[in-house]
Amino acid sequence: METLDLIQKLLVVLVCLYLSWRIIRYLWSFVDVEKDPLIVLVSGAAGQIGCALLPMIARGAMLGPDQPVIIHMLDIEPTAEILKGVKLELMDGAFPLLKGVICTTDVIEACKGVDIAIMLGGFPRRKDDNKGLIFKNIGIYKAQASALEQHADSNCKVLVVANPANTNALILKEFAPSIPEENITSLTRLDHNRALNQISENLNVHVGDVRNVIIWGNHSSNLYPDANHATVNTGVGYKSAKELISDDHWLHTDFISNVQTRGQTIIQARRLSCAFSAATAVCDHMRDWIIGTPKGTWVSMGVYSDGSYGIQPGLIYSFPVTCEKGEWSIVQGLKIDEFAREKMDALEKELIEEKTVAYSSLSSLH
Ligand code: NAD
Repeated sequence: METLDLIQKLLVVLVCLYLSWRIIRYLWSFVDVEKDPLIVLVSGAAGQIGCALLPMIARGAMLGPDQPVIIHMLDIEPTAEILKGVKLELMDGAFPLLKGVICTTDVIEACKGVDIAIMLGGFPRRKDDNKGLIFKNIGIYKAQASALEQHADSNCKVLVVANPANTNALILKEFAPSIPEENITSLTRLDHNRALNQISENLNVHVGDVRNVIIWGNHSSNLYPDANHATVNTGVGYKSAKELISDDHWLHTDFISNVQTRGQTIIQARRLSCAFSAATAVCDHMRDWIIGTPKGTWVSMGVYSDGSYGIQPGLIYSFPVTCEKGEWSIVQGLKIDEFAREKMDALEKELIEEKTVAYSSLSSLH
């Protein structure tokens, strides 16, 4: 009898404690606690993509509408005046989330305390292919990686955009060994978004109703957009994009080449390379990585290969990934047909060749 009494009392105490906890949590939700600002480095900030990206970051398009930011803008000495002008524009934006701006040509000052690094700066592509660009960018990426290694937050998340993006990311990983390898990624989200748009135009549906295309491998002129697993919201559930399109010839030819040559098409029309579509893709990449991918959706990211889909471990290779709580994981178990396998292997070979060129150029730097 006494034991029963004791259990009853214990239960009452536990229920009271639980209710008090719920009440405190409810009241706390009304207290407006501002988050600490995150420090975001944008290298190459005076360039085309930089100028489109900075107001997006300051407005919360990358890290969310309640995340204050401090922006570190880095560029090179000849563009120092332009960089100052960009800072004036940022200040005139009067962005509530923007808690500070540093504009500098000193890579060490730029990397101090950085939580997120967006690497746009580098030697421009012009007529160089990826291999030609490696020689020109290797010294830049070695120096920037060393500065991040020594001065950035040890859990800093890095997105490399500057071409050759996958191999620049690999060099960065090499010279920033204390930044976890899963924190170093490269951009293929622009190609991913372009592929979504191609399918939406083909089927005459809204782009928001298309999901789960894949960009495999390398961001190069041979990049491979794969629509085999893409689905489309038909209003009565998601259906296979491949079945709805019902034209394998188009999927194996124009669909791929339209995505591969989209950058050139934009240059011909605009007389300038793409800017805000690339900036939007940078925000999409970081937002999904940090905040998470929507349920049932994956995105393409250049990430450190763990050998998934038979791809050589240690390459920075673009895979389909889902993200949760700041961590990405490669989508497993997708059926790969012969056509896709050939393209994936060719891109793996291309990246191994880029890696070989990069490492042999590194030895000439020592
Ligand atoms: P841009 O030439 O307009 O700007 C590049 C900026 O980088 C310039 O302001 C330049 O002064 C600066 N820079 C050069 N060397 C630097 C260094 N050592 N440190 C810091 N800054 C440096 O080019 P953009 O159109 O803004 O494109 C930026 C990069 O992104 C290019 O390499 C481009 O090829 C690449 N890109 C990649 C993708 C992708 O999907 N991965 C898409 C579009 C563009």
